[in-house]
Amino acid sequence: MNQIAFFGLGNMGGPMAANLVKAGYKVRVFDLVPESVTKLVELGAESAATPSEAVKDADVVVSMLPAGKHVHGLYSQLTEQPNTLKQGALVIDSSTIDVATSKNVCQLLATNNVSFIDAPVSGGVAGATNGTLSFMVGGSSEHFELAKPLLEKMGKNIFHAGEVGAGQIAKVCNNMLLSILMVGTSEALQLGIDNGMDPTVLSEIMSKSSGSNWTLDVYNPCPGVMETAPASNGYHGGFMTDLMLKDLGLAMDTASKSSSSTPLGAIARNLYAMHSRSGAGTKDFSSIFELLQGK
Ligand code: NAD
Repeated sequence: MNQIAFFGLGNMGGPMAANLVKAGYKVRVFDLVPESVTKLVELGAESAATPSEAVKDADVVVSMLPAGKHVHGLYSQLTEQPNTLKQGALVIDSSTIDVATSKNVCQLLATNNVSFIDAPVSGGVAGATNGTLSFMVGGSSEHFELAKPLLEKMGKNIFHAGEVGAGQIAKVCNNMLLSILMVGTSEALQLGIDNGMDPTVLSEIMSKSSGSNWTLDVYNPCPGVMETAPASNGYHGGFMTDLMLKDLGLAMDTASKSSSSTPLGAIARNLYAMHSRSGAGTKDFSSIFELLQGK
C-alpha cells in the first residue's frame, strides 16, 4: 500500500486524509473545492488535476463523498476507460450511501479487477480529526484484513459488519438512533429551560443519570453548554442537517424493503425534513434544537 488516492476533502474527508499523510502514506488528493485541496497539499499531500490522475498507480482509493450519486459518478467515470485504476487495487468507500449503489459499484469495479469494501464511519469531525472514528466495514474477510492497517490510522474501532453493503446497513441503523437521541435530548433540554433550569446544570445531571447519551456527552445541541460543540459555533462545521436527512431517507428505504417498523425514525425524518425546508439544511444537525425552541 504505497500510493493512496483520496476523493472528497470536506468536513470528514479533509481530516481523514490528513491523518494518512501524518502516518507517512503517499496521498494524492482530489476535490471539487480548490481551497480544500490546498489545505492538504500544505500538509504534504500531492494534488491531482483530474480523478484519473489521482488514481494513477494507486494501490488504495478512498472516497468520502456526500451521497450515492457522487460515488457512482466517480467510479463510473474511472472505469469508463480500461486500466485507469491499477489492476488489483482496493477501493474503500467511506461515504454513507445506499446499499444498492455500494453493490453496484462493487460489481463495476470487479469487472476491472479492482476490489471494493464499503466502510462508512461514525464519530463526527472530532473523531475524523483525532483519528478515533468507528469504521463499519462490508466486504470479504480478506479485503477487511487488507484495509485494517490503513483504517487504523484514521479510526480506533474497526468492525467487520459482514459482506459488501453490511457496513451501510450498520451505519443507517446507527444514524437513525443518533437522530432520535438528538431530537430527544433537544426536547428534554428545552423542557428544562422552559421551566427555569440552567441548560448546563441540566446537561450535567442528565449525562450522569439514565438519560445519558452521546449527544449530551460530546455534542450538546444547546449553544453555550459545550464550548467545542457546533452549537457553540453558530451550528457551523460538523454534520449537516441535509446529510442527516439523507441518512434518514436511507433508513426509511431500508425499513420499507425489510417491512421493519421504525416509528421514531419516521418522526425524526419528518422533523429533519421540516427543519431543512425552513432553511437550516447546511447547519449542523444539532440545530434541530432551534426547531424545538420555536425559532
Ligand atoms: P462535506 O459536504 O463536508 O464534504 C464532501 C466533499 O466531497 C466536498 O468537499 C465536495 O467538494 C466533495 N466532492 C463532491 N463531489 C466530488 C467528486 N465528484 N470528486 C471529488 N470530491 C467531490 O461532507 P462530509 O460531512 O465530509 O460528509 C461526507 C460523507 O460522510 C457523507 O456521506 C456523510 O453522510 C458522511 N458522514 C459525515 C459525518 C459528519 O459528521 N460530517 C459523520 C459520519 C459520516
